[in-house]
Amino acid sequence: MKFVSTRGDAPELDFESVVLAGLASDGGLYVPKFIPKFSPEEIASWANLNYQDLAFNIISPFVDGEISDSELKTIINKAYSSFRHDGIAPMVQLGHNEWVLELFQGPTLAFKDFALQFLGHLLDHILTKRNQKVAVLGATSGDTGSAAIEGCRRCENIDIFILHPHNRVSDVQRKQMTTVLSENVFNVALEGNFDDCQNMVKASFRDQSFLPDQRQLVAVNSINWARIMAQIVYYFYAGLALGGPHRKISFSVPTGNFGDIYAGYLAMQMGLPIEQLVIATNQNDILHRCISNNDHSKQPLEQSLAPSMDIMVSSNFERLLFDLYDRDGSQIKRLMSDFEKGAMKLSDSSLEQARKVFSSFRLDDEGLLEVISETYANTGYVLDPHTAIGLAAGRSERKNRNTPMVCLATAHPAKFPDAIKAAGDIDDPKLPNHMRDLFEREERYEVLENDINVIHEYMKKWLS
Ligand SMILES: *Cc1c(COP(=O)(O)O)cnc(C)c1O
Repeated sequence: MKFVSTRGDAPELDFESVVLAGLASDGGLYVPKFIPKFSPEEIASWANLNYQDLAFNIISPFVDGEISDSELKTIINKAYSSFRHDGIAPMVQLGHNEWVLELFQGPTLAFKDFALQFLGHLLDHILTKRNQKVAVLGATSGDTGSAAIEGCRRCENIDIFILHPHNRVSDVQRKQMTTVLSENVFNVALEGNFDDCQNMVKASFRDQSFLPDQRQLVAVNSINWARIMAQIVYYFYAGLALGGPHRKISFSVPTGNFGDIYAGYLAMQMGLPIEQLVIATNQNDILHRCISNNDHSKQPLEQSLAPSMDIMVSSNFERLLFDLYDRDGSQIKRLMSDFEKGAMKLSDSSLEQARKVFSSFRLDDEGLLEVISETYANTGYVLDPHTAIGLAAGRSERKNRNTPMVCLATAHPAKFPDAIKAAGDIDDPKLPNHMRDLFEREERYEVLENDINVIHEYMKKWLS
């Protein structure tokens, strides 16, 4: 399979190169040259497969033989062996035709483990084969960092550097990263917000001349195609469990960087009958303003109780735009340059096309606390703050009560104890056994200035 840039001006790459590539040289994101499509009969024949075998069927057309079938199966099996639940992605019913898809059964208690456990083993395979060492560099609003560190900590060919916004991630989130004391793990608390971290990472990828010889940067945020690809699988898994492909399914997705919900869009392109995809946002609502009002303009970033969605520039939205503009890279280049100056407007036809499947909803802190408290009172189920927004969004936007609405539960509530406490009289959600002593573990991280030279000096020191 070949991959092309959304801005139309970078070389085509094969699968392994795209995993190592990060941003395309023209500033765009890589997407497959065409989207593989499965027939309803083929999808129906997968109804009884376990998660790992289903993952193989969905991922292998993208890998397209570059990794042998048996090696790819091994990578997938290793990736999901670290999950605590045999079902990998179990579902809980909360109401009539209303389901929560628990994507927090991985080692770091957020859905990001689905992609990053897979990516860690995939990188290990590719780098060992090539006898190559790389530096992973990533920005995190909280959950990506720990999931990436957990995915890479045992990889001999990787040194991993993760930037998080100083004092803006929860204590659990920070400790999950900073208590990993492996020699190849470097945590940086940047004096800035998440967008500052993300900008720092983007600038470093653009000009890698600061790196010692023969090192190259590898991206672990959701600009990396392999992450998106791994996330397509659970849409099929949930869809099959609820009667697909003979029946339509809707999904509501707590959204930040637009990676997770974009994977749902791809599942639909690949043949899963999806009725609605609901974009759920917190007060950082650029995507909600865009879908509802064609207002895709930057506004100051606000801190919320759902910190993993505190994002203003949703990188993966560009991948959707590429399709909405008939894969015309020059149009995307123009739109993104408008957006860099502050705002972009979608054409009437592309907005109309987006609204055929996407709808959107925004909920602030007060609203999400109410949802957590109400859901606990009615069902005894404890939602994490991100999932609470998703659940409310699904309820508000669903058009058809006969279609199952699956809300993606993106994190375990124990990751956000302060929000749960603020929601009222709820039994403290317990951290799973493997993390019970998290608060007693030793931490190691460096607080650094929001200055690219400072960051580069720090990385150079450890890489040479
Ligand atoms: C990362 C994250 C999100 C947002 O996912 P995107 O793919 O960035 O849209 C939502 N909830 C939680 C808990 C997360 O960690």
